[in-house]
Amino acid sequence: MIDQKNIIEPEKVTCGVCFKEIPISEASSVKATDYILYYCGLDCYDQWKKQQSKPESEKRD
Ligand SMILES: [Zn+2]
Repeated sequence: MIDQKNIIEPEKVTCGVCFKEIPISEASSVKATDYILYYCGLDCYDQWKKQQSKPESEKRD
């Protein structure tokens, strides 16, 4: 049997950039290397993208 809940709480996710909680229906997501990143808006997506393209550490030859 399936229990029906009176109140359906929207599932929430945390924005991977600003760590704000957002309903999953309002969140956008992007598939990263081995995880899915949720973000609340284009500003956060841009920030994340910048971080991705940045070299993690400078290599010294
Ligand atoms: Zn955000």
